[in-house]
Amino acid sequence: MWAYWLSVPEHWREIPARYRLEGGQCEDCGFKMIPKRDVCPRCGSKNVKTVKLPRRGRVLEYTKVWNPPRGYEYYTPYVIALVELEDGTRLTAQLTDVDPDEVEEGMEVEMVLRKVRVSGESGLIAYAYKFRPLLK
Ligand SMILES: [Zn+2]
Repeated sequence: MWAYWLSVPEHWREIPARYRLEGGQCEDCGFKMIPKRDVCPRCGSKNVKTVKLPRRGRVLEYTKVWNPPRGYEYYTPYVIALVELEDGTRLTAQLTDVDPDEVEEGMEVEMVLRKVRVSGESGLIAYAYKFRPLLK
């Protein structure tokens, strides 16, 4: 269901999306997606341009993760949420700076960059977007 955990090649391929919250927008039907794809999943057009997405959104759905893949144990439990950005683009991301018990649907969130993983032998530290509750 959640296509969040990426292999290393996928990680590098998706750096623009993960670091700058860039996505794609179909120039034919207007559909926005993150990460950007070569072909629009809605209409099949190949006229997909890169667009910067808004950093704020709200939680549509969420799930608590108690059994993460290897390398993510430190974060247990954590919350993966389906977030709808201000322009309607939807993506899944980890929530941060929040007690998992305080997450609720409709909660306003904003994007931040956070360390996500240190892989054992290479010591690779990856940064990616996560979302935290909007500071008021
Ligand atoms: Zn399209």
